[in-house]
Amino acid sequence: MAIHYRTKGFIFEKIDFREADRIFTIFTEDFGKLEILAKAIRKIKSKLRGGIELFYLTNVEFVQGKTYKTLTDASLIENFPNLRKDLKRLKIAYEISEILDDLIKGEEKDEKVWDLLKETFQGLNNLLLSIKECWLIYYYFFWNFLSILGYQPELNSCSICQKKLTPGNLYFNPKEGGVICFDCSKKVKDGKKIESDVIKILRLILKKEMNFLKKLKIEKTHQKAMKEISESYLSFVKESQS
Ligand SMILES: [Zn+2]
Repeated sequence: MAIHYRTKGFIFEKIDFREADRIFTIFTEDFGKLEILAKAIRKIKSKLRGGIELFYLTNVEFVQGKTYKTLTDASLIENFPNLRKDLKRLKIAYEISEILDDLIKGEEKDEKVWDLLKETFQGLNNLLLSIKECWLIYYYFFWNFLSILGYQPELNSCSICQKKLTPGNLYFNPKEGGVICFDCSKKVKDGKKIESDVIKILRLILKKEMNFLKKLKIEKTHQKAMKEISESYLSFVKESQS
């Protein structure tokens, strides 16, 4: 008899496979990221269908075969209906799933990632939050996730000369590990100017001060800067992983 494993997981990717099968990529509470094959799930009669779908939190049961882990049971815990009904929220969920897929390589339990995912999905499902606040949740996920993976950026002292940062002429340099001062940016001739307010947002995100964040007045320029800095940091992390 094969051993049946049971765990909970966030479904963050699905790919159709063969005639009627599907492979789900799941971040599970007990085993980290897993790919699980669901046999014949695209047939109308499949009893697995109702319990597992993209961006569901699901109880899964599976067996380890020679090549695949095969799904033997799936029951829904939470389907985050508000996330599903709103294209903008859905888009954020897709971006999160892409980052998970890109940056988590092995099957390894990680409680911190698990807790962060729970917080993130509950946040995205919360209709009391505006779409701007949902984007804050995205950045909250992004920076805390990278920090868990060991890429926490330096935001308090210059990443090169270690001098305490004073507001003013500051630069962001992924390669050096975070914010650098004006003098060092001249020396390395690299880095993007970053406003003190954006550094403040990043600090609050990493301190997990969501209540403060919601009260902040975030300008369009800050949003644009957050986008640019996050993208450049992500490509740096991807490069250093490969
Ligand atoms: Zn410096």
